[in-house]
Order: sequence, then C-alpha cells, then structure tokens
Amino acid sequence: MEPEAADSLYDIVIIGSGPAGYTAGIYAARANLKTVIIAGVTPGGQLMLTGVVENFPGFPDGVQGPDLMESMRRQAENAGVEIVYDDAVDVDFSTYPRKIITSDRTFLAKAVIIATGASPKWLGLESEKRLLGRGVSSCATCDGPLFRGAKCAVVVGGGDSAMEYALFLSKLVEKVVVVHRRDKLRASKIMQERALSNPKIEFVWNSVVVDVLGSERVEGVKVKNKLTGEEKVIPCNAVFVAIGHAPNTEFLRGKLELDEEGYIKLYNNFETSVKGVFAAGDVHDKRYRQAITAAGFGCMAAMEAIRFIEEGHPERLEKEYRAGRVEVVSGSNPSEQS
Ligand SMILES: Cc1cc2nc3c(=O)[nH]c(=O)nc-3n(C[C@H](O)[C@H](O)[C@H](O)COP(=O)(O)OP(=O)(O)OC[C@H]3O[C@@H](n4cnc5c(N)ncnc54)[C@H](O)[C@@H]3O)c2cc1C
Repeated sequence: MEPEAADSLYDIVIIGSGPAGYTAGIYAARANLKTVIIAGVTPGGQLMLTGVVENFPGFPDGVQGPDLMESMRRQAENAGVEIVYDDAVDVDFSTYPRKIITSDRTFLAKAVIIATGASPKWLGLESEKRLLGRGVSSCATCDGPLFRGAKCAVVVGGGDSAMEYALFLSKLVEKVVVVHRRDKLRASKIMQERALSNPKIEFVWNSVVVDVLGSERVEGVKVKNKLTGEEKVIPCNAVFVAIGHAPNTEFLRGKLELDEEGYIKLYNNFETSVKGVFAAGDVHDKRYRQAITAAGFGCMAAMEAIRFIEEGHPERLEKEYRAGRVEVVSGSNPSEQS
C-alpha cells in the first residue's frame, strides 16, 4: 500500500454523528481500533434540534439535546476517535478497503458504519423554524410529555405516524386536533378506526397549516382550507409535524441496497448488502426512531464491525478482491456487479 494511502487507512470509518455514530465510535476506539467519525457539516444529529430530552436514561432531571450530543462527542474524542467535520459525498464499495470520499479527502476503511440518520420533513414555514423546540416538534413520543395537561396539541399529517402521535397525545392533553390536507387518512385501517373513534381527537380536513403563531412559545396555528380558501386559527400549545422522514442516504444510491423509501436494508447482524459495511440508527430504523435505540444500534453495529475485523475478514476480502473474486452478503449489489 502507498504511504499516503496507509495514512488514510482506518480500521473503522463511521459516517454520521448522532447518538448512533458517537456510540459506535466510543465502542470502536475502546477496542483499540483506529477510528474516525465523519461527522457531517451539521454534526450532532437530530437532538441538536430539540430542547430538553427527558427519556434518555441517566438524566433524572432531563438534559438539553445539544448538551447530550456535546457530551457524546467529548466521550468519543476522549476514547480516541478522530472527528472530521465534513460530509461524506461519495463512497466506493466496489474495492477493498472500502473508500469514503469527503470534499477534500478519501478515507480507506476495513469496516464502515453508516449512521447518517434521517431528517424529519417539515412544513417549510419560517414560524415553524423559529418555534422549533418551543412547541414545534416532529416527535410526539419525545416531546409530547412536556405538554402534559395542556389544552390542545395539533398534529399535522394523515399517516400512521400522525395517528400514533394523536393517540399518544390524547392521553396527555385535553384535546388533539389533526390537520390533514386530504379528506381521508392514509393511515392503516386499524389506526384510523382508533383515532376516529377517540372522543379527544378532532379532525380538520382538506386543510394545511399556513402559519404557526406565538412569539416565545406556540400559541396556535393558522390553517387554510384548500377547497374554500377559508382561513382560521386553532389555539394550541404544541404542533407535532408528522409528514414523514427522509433517510440521509442520497450519496449511497446504487452503492448498497436501500428499500423503496431509501432506508438501508440490513442482513446479517447490522451488515448491509456490502460485506464489511454496517448501518446503525435512524438510517435503517423507521420503527423506533429514538436516541436510546439509535445509541443501542450504534453499539451493536460497532461490536459486529469489531468482530468482523478480529475474525480476519479484511485480510480474506483483500485477497478476494485482488483475485477478482468478490463476496456479496445478500441480494444484488449494483456496485459489485458492474
Ligand atoms: C425535534 C426532535 C426531538 C427529538 N426528541 C427526542 C427525545 O426527546 N428523545 C429521543 O429518544 N429521541 C428524540 N428524537 C429522535 C432522535 O433524535 C433520533 O432518533 C436520533 O437522533 C437518531 O440518531 P442517529 O444517530 O440514527 O441519527 P441522527 O441523529 O439523525 O444523526 C445523523 C447525523 O449524521 C449526519 N450526516 C448525514 N449525512 C451525512 C453525510 N453524508 N456525511 C456525514 N454526516 C452525515 C447528520 O448531519 C447528523 O448529524 C427527536 C428528534 C427530533 C427531530
């Protein structure tokens, strides 16, 4: 291997710096492996967008999301992880060691852990951005309990997540109003039935939120009926936007297997369709989407990557690639078939 290539060779390259990425980093570095986290240009992940986190164990009085992420970052660095604040813009999984490319460097990796998370979709309103963490949220499981006893919470959306949020919030607040842009829900039948028959949940059909009202905290939303153009204000204490998430996998298209929504498909024990490439957190998990589960997945993916290295797979793979014999974990892998 060329000297400069040897410099860029890491045991484990982790892409993403949310709870999954930092946790994976802590485990990898503590196993004495040369580890780098490519943290992204907006490091820290989704918890940087929130205020107090009350459900991450170990913080009996809650912890501010950005403080929790700063602690995780410091813990990873103290464990010996190198952190690079740039985005991975491309990968080459058709060679071994695997290549991860940022704006100005190419990293070589014996094992890769992708922990790039998912981004909640927002309405795109300036007022929504301004009141984020002050009544506006994209996670009812996370932030709903902060509004226990409140008069009203609005949920925007008509899918399963929106109904789940509405049902969850109905146990906490006096009234939930679901604002949906169509005249029927997209959610599964069972979720629809539960929400529609809940006396604490009201529906505002064919309507979109055009403004979130309040200076310091959410005080209401302005909605517009798409059919009549009529606008009205719904006074409320919180707005939960449940219009979907987008996994941060654009740069991986065609490089490993993604599902129809763009989430990474996993095969054996957190391994993706490419050997030695693992994934952890919201980038593959659309069911739980919690900081603690992402951290847990980060731990598990790191333990699998460590095992992969300790069991001698890198040496075997390097030989196979040199000999032109390539092992694929499962299914078709366009990058390795071309
Ligand atoms: C408003 C809000 C409030 C929440 N509150 C809570 C709560 O109270 N409790 C709770 O348990 N959960 C909460 N969650 C959910 C929780 O934040 C997520 O489940 C968790 O952060 C997922 O962690 P992750 O590591 O998988 O990914 P993320 O946190 O999404 O982090 C991924 C990171 O990877 C980076 N990245 C993306 N693409 C690239 C790339 N190409 N190169 C390099 N880096 C990249 C991103 O910039 C980001 O920093 C909340 C979420 C939101 C949006």
